[in-house]
Amino acid sequence: MVGVHVITTGGTIAMKDDEAAGGAIPAVSGRDLIALLPEGVGAVEVEEYCNLPSAHFTLDTVWGIRARVAELAADDAVQGIVVTHGTDAMEETAYLLDLTVDTDKPIALTGAMRTASEVGYDGAVNLLAAIRVAASDVCGSLGALVVMNQEIHAARHVTKTDTQSTDTFKSLAYGPLGRVDGDEVVVAQRVVRQYIPCSTLNSDVHLIKLAVGMDDGFLRQLMERTAAGVVIAALGGGRVPPWWMPTIREAIDGGMAVVIASRCPTGRVYDGYGYQGAYRDLVEAGAIFAEGLSGQKARIKLMVALGEQRDRRSIQELFRPGT
Ligand code: ASP
Repeated sequence: MVGVHVITTGGTIAMKDDEAAGGAIPAVSGRDLIALLPEGVGAVEVEEYCNLPSAHFTLDTVWGIRARVAELAADDAVQGIVVTHGTDAMEETAYLLDLTVDTDKPIALTGAMRTASEVGYDGAVNLLAAIRVAASDVCGSLGALVVMNQEIHAARHVTKTDTQSTDTFKSLAYGPLGRVDGDEVVVAQRVVRQYIPCSTLNSDVHLIKLAVGMDDGFLRQLMERTAAGVVIAALGGGRVPPWWMPTIREAIDGGMAVVIASRCPTGRVYDGYGYQGAYRDLVEAGAIFAEGLSGQKARIKLMVALGEQRDRRSIQELFRPGT
């Protein structure tokens, strides 16, 4: 048994100050990270997939991480997997792994908010906690997890809430699944995860965030170039200005998948209003609803859904309540 396999991909957990660059850059290798662990952690293998800020990731980078995690998950010698990752896009990679890697083994993503050059570097403690989670029996079948600041979060619910705080990752609607205290891993609630078979991502899926009085120019542009899909992070429980409705109808009738999420940090997309541009109007137009997923996660799910040939009804089914 190898035990835990760690894949490093970069992020602040792997960054150090560099005079020439004028700030912190990726400079800590996978081996350097493992060297920070105390003795007696157990068998840990490490491999460096890349060393990049997550803002530099392409969809190919993310899909490549997914492919490697899936390969390791299928390896009988591997008990659990840790991915070290930049915190900026961690929730998106976590959700992609959650949706598309069919395994009961724990997959724990972690990172740091302070670089290895700063006082209070949180990389070592987070890595140790993630390794404990990946090695733990109680963390199986929970899908991909984000382990930061001693908390264990479900990929579906977690989001980065603060640009600076080490306590930035929150599952705003439902709270963390559990905690890591010293060498004890405690899971207090479990999630139902969704698996979607997927052999490739459809990268022609976009995200538009609505703001008051905005015109529909971005959506019109996507429609004119027949983009595959768009997520609109709409107002409140899923409302758009009435002048967006003709373009939304045209886009859907032309074959684009239009998913309505909310720009609110929590809550399902639903309302009981009868006015133009509200939920009912969007239902009649044929929009799909993100069911409490954030715009960025609804985009990941739509890229997965459109990665295979699927009609609107089966895409809608993948977004049904409770998924
Ligand atoms: N710049 C970092 C990133 O790669 C931020 C972090 O890791 O905290 O996402």
